[in-house]
Amino acid sequence: MSKYHVDEHGFYGEFGGAFIPEMLYPNVEELRQHYLEIMASESFQQEFRKLLRDYVGRPTPLYYAERLSEKYGSRIYLKREDLCHTGAHKVNNTIGQILMAKRLGKKRIIAETGAGQHGVATATVCALMGLPCVVYMGEVDIARQAPNVARMKLLGAEVRPARSGSRTLKDATNEAIRDWINNPEDTHYIIGSVVGPHPYPDMVARFQAVISEEIRHQLLEAEGRTDPDYLIACVGGGSNAAGTYYHYLDQEEVQIIAAEAAGKGVDTGESAATSALGRVGIIHASKTLLMQTADGQITEPYSISAGLDYPGVGPMHAHLFQTGRAQFIPVTDAQAMAGGRELARLEGIIPAIESSHAFAVLEMGAVPPDSLVVINLSGRGDKDLQTYIDYFDLT
Ligand SMILES: *Cc1c(COP(=O)(O)O)cnc(C)c1O
Repeated sequence: MSKYHVDEHGFYGEFGGAFIPEMLYPNVEELRQHYLEIMASESFQQEFRKLLRDYVGRPTPLYYAERLSEKYGSRIYLKREDLCHTGAHKVNNTIGQILMAKRLGKKRIIAETGAGQHGVATATVCALMGLPCVVYMGEVDIARQAPNVARMKLLGAEVRPARSGSRTLKDATNEAIRDWINNPEDTHYIIGSVVGPHPYPDMVARFQAVISEEIRHQLLEAEGRTDPDYLIACVGGGSNAAGTYYHYLDQEEVQIIAAEAAGKGVDTGESAATSALGRVGIIHASKTLLMQTADGQITEPYSISAGLDYPGVGPMHAHLFQTGRAQFIPVTDAQAMAGGRELARLEGIIPAIESSHAFAVLEMGAVPPDSLVVINLSGRGDKDLQTYIDYFDLT
């Protein structure tokens, strides 16, 4: 039995589970009963692998970053998820889930989105499969993320505003859950990270595990060994990190680093550093670490990076933190932006600001020299250009 993968009850240590309202039980149970069998079937694997290759563009390269390596005195490889179709790792999961939905006989897809990246990845695969798609999005986020709203609409999705509460991600999530309760027969809910009720965290981790599967092969080819000394990824909900770590979780000699968003600083009240600030609670139907007030109200997170701006973390990561298997490093906006600019100047690659958090740990001295390092470059920076412009005054 693995210490770090999900157990038969849907838990990672004390975290995880499915704390769902009664009315959601049939939907989640249907998925729980079938997901492993469907994923293991040959026809599923064939279709999944083919789309990953021909549509997403996998395998993504494992690129030896020579100038970055020179600067830090280590051998540093970048896993190029930024080269995936739609610009980030999220599509690995949405492809997997749309194939799952089809095999479960579902005719309609719903999703929630914060910054819009998951909404775009979902709208993309719905267009690919010709399925109707409704994306719930907070009214405030719709106003802030106009280009992604336009992308979703161009792809044929309907974007429904969530007008309750703070009109952001958690309100969109509530609306999506309400929709699912009302449409249990024909609708599949595509969750975008390793969060939500069991089996979602495990299912999403398995779809993203293609990342670590490829790293093992590619590192063996490049370095004559499958295992690096260090694996580094940024953590919002934790899906790109889960995919990067997946095949290495039980190899304790591989050091795992999780970069989380400290915003303006862990103690400033404007942060999303869940491991540093979170306490045990329930969010999105899962028991995990969660930023909350003394009486259990979820705290609004803050990060310059929209994809890391989440008050919780997936249950696998809560467990990795609690057991000490992974080292969680809070990275401020300023450290992340500097890390992103450095990658642009040393390697000619402009990362998503989420990914920039992973690069910042190099400058923070988290990796000793002479190490073999793999950093997951979760996405490209095109979507963040305006933030880079404003931050560095590039006009
Ligand atoms: C959404 C996103 C993230 C954060 O999500 P995880 O589930 O933690 O991976 C990180 N990087 C990029 C580029 C993203 O789009």
